[in-house]
Amino acid sequence: MSEFSSVRYTPFSCPACGGRMVFDPASQQLKCPYCGALRPFQITRETPNEYDIRFAPPSEDAAWGDETRTVRCGKCAAELVLTGETSLASCPFCGAEAMAASESGSGIAPEGLVPFCLTRVQAQDSLRQWLLGRIFVTGALRKQVAAGRLTGVYLPHWTYVDEAESVYQGKAGRHYETDLPFTVTDRDGKERTETSRQQLTRWEVATGRLSERYDDVMIPGSDRLPTELMNGILPYHMSRLARYTPEYVAGFACEKPDLDVQEGWKQAQGKVDRRMAELAEREILTHADEAKVQQVETSHNSVRYKLVLLPAYLLTFRFRKKVRQVLVNGENGRVAGHAPLSPLRIGFAALLALAALGALVWRFMAQGGSEYMLYDFGRALTAYL
Ligand SMILES: [Zn+2]
Ligand SMILES: [Zn+2]
Repeated sequence: MSEFSSVRYTPFSCPACGGRMVFDPASQQLKCPYCGALRPFQITRETPNEYDIRFAPPSEDAAWGDETRTVRCGKCAAELVLTGETSLASCPFCGAEAMAASESGSGIAPEGLVPFCLTRVQAQDSLRQWLLGRIFVTGALRKQVAAGRLTGVYLPHWTYVDEAESVYQGKAGRHYETDLPFTVTDRDGKERTETSRQQLTRWEVATGRLSERYDDVMIPGSDRLPTELMNGILPYHMSRLARYTPEYVAGFACEKPDLDVQEGWKQAQGKVDRRMAELAEREILTHADEAKVQQVETSHNSVRYKLVLLPAYLLTFRFRKKVRQVLVNGENGRVAGHAPLSPLRIGFAALLALAALGALVWRFMAQGGSEYMLYDFGRALTAYL
């Protein structure tokens, strides 16, 4: 036995100082937070696996390839999977400082992920840029941005592949013009019949078949983030989807999905069904002026799924006793968020504008009027705002 056999080597320990390394979005390597050493890791070029929905496990703990802990927020019930030494002082979703170890396991391991490309500092820059154009935003948000209270979280999404086939029934309307008679009474009280040209619609039964392949129908693993915020930071480049390896999540928290694969599939099916109805309408319209889709029966074939993680930085703050969130896309820096306005700032700006207006009027009166007044007024306003 070698004398080093008792040294426990984990693939995440720093070759220089032995500290636990974390994923560095800037270099796409592991980086030591203690001495700054970088180390590349093995990535596989294989695309993530997809699994047959008929054999989907409801929710079982699977190997994450690293030691995991699951913590639960006592307030909003968010569960987050952490690896290595990663810890959370507060909940990234609601801001509560009530994170405790959770009884439940880490759940199904993700199959793929879009790695973080933005560092926390870069995400903060994106946020500052976003704030630049919002001069009336409340100070509560500004303080959080200045303090850099951003947490990098991988958000779970179910994605489904579906080969959908639909039989639809509806009506196709074709416009035609006809002369319709109507009665007019002239000045002498005599009635006579005239005709006017009118457009009418003739309806016929329309039926057809459609088939369409859906590659990535995405359903968020939880509804903890408002849909409009999540949509606001889309899209992610799914072509960059990498196969999951534990190195990518080292140092970041991973939200555990609330929704299991079957519940997610129900939502995805609804999305596909709506899309097929739209396609049916579009198809009728290729040979008609108007379309009514009355029934669409869709069969979903060869349905496959995978769990993927999407990177985002979350900033949570309170405004008027409500929790507000701002999201930064961890891949490209796109920002979406609640930006409540400060009545104080707006009031102050209005006062300034009024003062500027007053000063201008006074000057105008003092000079006995000036043809440049409007020009001056505009210039002063832009200067004060
Ligand atoms: Zn080190
Ligand atoms: Zn929470």
